[in-house]
Amino acid sequence: MDETPETLDPAEWDAHRAVAHRMVDDAVDYIRDVRSRPVWQDMPTDVRARFRDGVPRDGQPLDAVYRQIATDLLPYPMGNIHPRFWMWYMGASNFTGALGDFLAAILGSNLGGGDHAAAEIDKQVVDWMKEMVGYPAAASGTLVSGGSMANLIGLTVARNTMSGIDLRELGVSALPAPMRFYGSDQVHSCHRIAVEAMGLGNRALRCVPTDAASRMDILALRKLIAEDRKAGLLPACVIATAGTVNTGAIDELEAIADLCAAEGLWMHVDGCIGALLAIAPKGCALVHGIARADSIALDPHKWLHAPFEVGCALVRDADAHLGTFTATPEYLANAPRGIASGAWLHDFGLQTSRGFRALKVWMALKEHGLAKFGRLVDQDLAHARYLSEQIEAIPELTLCFPTVINIVCFRYDPGGLSEATLKQLNTEIMVQMQEAGIAAVSDTTVQGRHCLRAAINNHRTTPSDLDLLIQEVVRRGRTLVPEAVEARGWD
Ligand SMILES: *Cc1c(COP(=O)(O)O)cnc(C)c1O
Repeated sequence: MDETPETLDPAEWDAHRAVAHRMVDDAVDYIRDVRSRPVWQDMPTDVRARFRDGVPRDGQPLDAVYRQIATDLLPYPMGNIHPRFWMWYMGASNFTGALGDFLAAILGSNLGGGDHAAAEIDKQVVDWMKEMVGYPAAASGTLVSGGSMANLIGLTVARNTMSGIDLRELGVSALPAPMRFYGSDQVHSCHRIAVEAMGLGNRALRCVPTDAASRMDILALRKLIAEDRKAGLLPACVIATAGTVNTGAIDELEAIADLCAAEGLWMHVDGCIGALLAIAPKGCALVHGIARADSIALDPHKWLHAPFEVGCALVRDADAHLGTFTATPEYLANAPRGIASGAWLHDFGLQTSRGFRALKVWMALKEHGLAKFGRLVDQDLAHARYLSEQIEAIPELTLCFPTVINIVCFRYDPGGLSEATLKQLNTEIMVQMQEAGIAAVSDTTVQGRHCLRAAINNHRTTPSDLDLLIQEVVRRGRTLVPEAVEARGWD
């Protein structure tokens, strides 16, 4: 060989160090000054066009690559780290967590398993999650990409355990009767995908009606289970939602746990929104009974504000969890000592290679402590109450659903407008606020009424941000209504 072999390492470490330092400096400013920037802004066409360039054949200095990041990427975020972002249900990220992701990548370890420190941290974070929701230390769990995957893990363990057959070996075609899972009409769409992916088909997910408070109607649930048993079907699992996407409603966990115990059913809690209420001094009462579940899905990238992605599946029966996913091929056999002597963390889910997503959670919890995260959950609840009170005090605004946790459903309604016009009007207000970079709320339809929806899951929000939201909605509504009625011909 007459040439030196190539490597991805920099030829000039000091030049890379300088660019890296600049990235960190810029990152600090970026987060510190987030409030002074628009929540969101549309990308100019030239920026969009550059993202359609083909694969670069030849390289360029890191410095130049970073220059493009600074001009084309950083000014155009989704917006969820901004104090006035309240769309859908997202976390607001945090700087320490971002450093965690960076260091995880520096380490470069694969969390599929093995005996190394990162694997210990992965297991420790799972143990912390168990502690947070009140699960016993003997329970099992795994960190996954998010809540959708965490729910799939829980439901798959439920399916295999409740099937009554060796489902791994025989498959769903060997089931003695079609299985049935029960979730309310407010259940997250990921459960539908989960039953489809599990080969059970959509009919396996029974839709239980909700009461006036958007909670699963327990009497209706009981009736459905009885009907299904009578029809020879196999009732298997009740999916209780602790915090629905639409309104934040929390199903009656104790009552569902009692029913599951009496009926011999698996209880799964979709706690992607609400499970972490358990760490809040005031909010914890809302999820009393959550630890009675057989499995829980939760989402540290929501109320722990971890950078995307990290979700967590917890399963009370550790053997059932391991028994659902473990498979050790010859190339992953355990060694008595050395790197391959640790537990195989891939045995608890669908992935083989796994990222070190535990570190960002671990570092932020170490730095801030659980008590502070609990207070932040309560702070979001207080902010949602504050916003709701302001809305109720203004005649042109309607609170469309009594606020339960940190999700506020409301709309601009000056009176005398049709439902269709109100929808157009409020959609226009929502989009205008986004385009102006002022505030981001989403919209939904609750009990037949279209409304704006603010999910205040944001450690940067202050009451004055909520005041501004109200001002902007009212101001834009007042401008739009005469315009709408006259110029646009609404109504
Ligand atoms: C967010 C959410 C999910 C899905 O979680 P991801 O992290 O987005 O995959 C599932 N259920 C509920 C109730 C949620 O709020």
